[in-house]
Amino acid sequence: MLTEEEIKEIFLKADAFLEGHFLLSSGLHSPYYLQCAKVLQYPDYAEKLCSELAGRIEDLGVEYDLVIAPAIGGIIVSYETARHLGVRGIFAERVEGELKLRRGFEIKPGERAVVVEDVVTTGKSTRETMEVVSSHGGEVVAVGSLVDRSGGKVDFGVPFVTLWRLEVPVYEPEVCPICREGKIPLVKPGSRNIPVK
Ligand SMILES: [Zn+2]
Repeated sequence: MLTEEEIKEIFLKADAFLEGHFLLSSGLHSPYYLQCAKVLQYPDYAEKLCSELAGRIEDLGVEYDLVIAPAIGGIIVSYETARHLGVRGIFAERVEGELKLRRGFEIKPGERAVVVEDVVTTGKSTRETMEVVSSHGGEVVAVGSLVDRSGGKVDFGVPFVTLWRLEVPVYEPEVCPICREGKIPLVKPGSRNIPVK
């Protein structure tokens, strides 16, 4: 079993997790920047993380017929976790804002699904994916995510497993403690080392 420290190490190696002083697209400042796609671009890391997630899902002792995730962030997680669980992995995608099954994907009445995500923040897309399952007559038996950024606040009403519980503080620029300290320049993620004026 991978420890939280080992999980963090994988994200750091892939530059998927950065520590410093970041200007987020929301305009807020944060000491962390997380981008799961950057870790999942490496098949070796995706395999390591999703086999770990699959193991923890197996440990729940629930029965399942498929894995499903919301697109786009969850597609690789669904595929790779399903591969380890030996079931099919599908995804739901947004059609005019609403998550739906497309591409001939089906959930038959009574089928048991595990909903997976790369990152759970508010849990909104997870809940919407759970609704997709129930709207087809399926049953959600568990939820899994690589990272839980919710601060332990989400409750899906089914067992929830995650590899890394990560608190990501965000600050309004005027009250940002990192700005106040003035030691670390503010950068835009993806343009590291180039300070924002
Ligand atoms: Zn700041």
